[in-house]
Amino acid sequence: MKDGNYRAIAKELKAGLKAGRLFVDGEFVRARSKKKIAVINPATQELLTDIAEAQADDVNNAVASAQRAFESEEWRSMDAAARGRLLWKIGDLIEKHKTELAVLESLSNGKTVTEALRGDIPPAWDIFRYYAGWANKYHGETIPVDGPYLNYTLREPVGVVGAIVAWNYPLLLACWKIAPALAMGNTVVLKPAEQTPLTALYFAELLNKAGVPPGVVNVVTGAGQTGSLLARHPGVDKIAFTGSTETGRRILQASAESNLKRVSLELGGKSPNIVFADADLDVATQSAFRAIFANKGEICSAGSRLLVERRIYDEMVDRLREKAAALKVGDPLDPETGMGAQVSRAQLRRVLGYIELGKKEGARVAAGGGRDKSPENRRGNFVKPTVFTDVKSGMKIAQEEIFGPVLCVIPFDGPEEAAKIANHSRYGLVAAVWTRDVGLAHALARKIRAGSVWINTYNGFDSASPFGGCKESGMGREMGVHALESYTHVKSVWVALDRDVKA
Ligand code: NAD
Repeated sequence: MKDGNYRAIAKELKAGLKAGRLFVDGEFVRARSKKKIAVINPATQELLTDIAEAQADDVNNAVASAQRAFESEEWRSMDAAARGRLLWKIGDLIEKHKTELAVLESLSNGKTVTEALRGDIPPAWDIFRYYAGWANKYHGETIPVDGPYLNYTLREPVGVVGAIVAWNYPLLLACWKIAPALAMGNTVVLKPAEQTPLTALYFAELLNKAGVPPGVVNVVTGAGQTGSLLARHPGVDKIAFTGSTETGRRILQASAESNLKRVSLELGGKSPNIVFADADLDVATQSAFRAIFANKGEICSAGSRLLVERRIYDEMVDRLREKAAALKVGDPLDPETGMGAQVSRAQLRRVLGYIELGKKEGARVAAGGGRDKSPENRRGNFVKPTVFTDVKSGMKIAQEEIFGPVLCVIPFDGPEEAAKIANHSRYGLVAAVWTRDVGLAHALARKIRAGSVWINTYNGFDSASPFGGCKESGMGREMGVHALESYTHVKSVWVALDRDVKA
């Protein structure tokens, strides 16, 4: 597809955006709340549309609709295999509308349309196909208990799931929650991030096309306050959340203070990417570069701490500097662009603030180091891909999640020190190890506290493989069979086989 086409599609999609709509009970409705939030294109600062900031009435309506759907004959008695077929249809529709979805994602998030077409949309349709297969395969068991009894378990849906997601992979993060939730027979109220609600609303139309019964998925728009209403709602049985560690903490509190709803949290990271001197330096450098600059560094699993064995440190930094200088930053709809715009002005300020902090802390700027002010990029939230060297593990830029295109390169001597630096973090989302020494790679995979460890690769994702963090990176896992646990509860059923058994 030519870049002219993306622009034409964007124009058409923008013209079709409708302000202030929520998706409740299978219909697009006007929000009762009159409060509005502007959705801005971060590459141009152009207003795309206004969304409603849903308040208590709107959230109550959406939750009530999800509760009714959960109790409805149509949804409750639908065969698991039929639910599976429905999920498959949703996957097909996402694939059919991949270009529209990718362009909408690019418009409000600032990521390149090429990245959205590769990294956002295909895994979103794949997760529906993956869980379509599980709908009738995740079931109970019979247990050989003592006495004249038949004891068996049922895997039952938990009820109404509140899905609250961040703005970096808007549709994908929602699908990672909605697909397993529906496969297990739950219903959902989705609250997309206020900066990037467009694909969630477009997706709602696809749900109707697929024939998902009304109320099974609802979408409420709004910011933190709307999310908090959902997190505190007594009619919500589980919150599945992706976002910052700080908000994750608030969601746990809200659960404790309301109905002890279940909570699963996918939170931040400051992930170590460890390169030993014997690694294939060409591949490791290319991968380390993508690990931090893909999606303009707004990836929870970004390889933001690059730990390089001292012997190859200077060479790797030189290569990274060259690549950073060559990366084309700019218009996300242009297929030639390598890196788009930071999602919002607030995020731009945050990233620039950390770059200044890094300079003050004594790190050296090897590449980038500030805003991209070239004439064509002046209006947007563009940052130059930035590489800091001479970084010490205790510096704030090496400890705090920047969530932008800023790489901290830290030298180390030997595996012990590498592991120590890697674990010197409040986070534990992912890690990578680059070496030809198989034993060392596996030993480090055990030693590093992280939810995923990649060996001689980075950002390995698959619908079948669990993803999630330890420490302050979260609790619970998404994807794979592992996620199904958190969307079901186990009921134990006892049957007396002998009428004389004591009552
Ligand atoms: P955020 O926590 O500010 O917002 C995330 C979502 O929570 C948004 O929808 C927001 O409106 C909502 N929210 C905000 N305050 C709330 C409250 N008090 N109660 C309920 N909901 C509330 O995070 P962000 O800045 O939008 O996203 C970036 C963060 O997300 C980063 O820390 C990143 O690492 C993390 N993230 C993690 C993963 C993962 O899978 N581990 C994936 C993507 C992003």
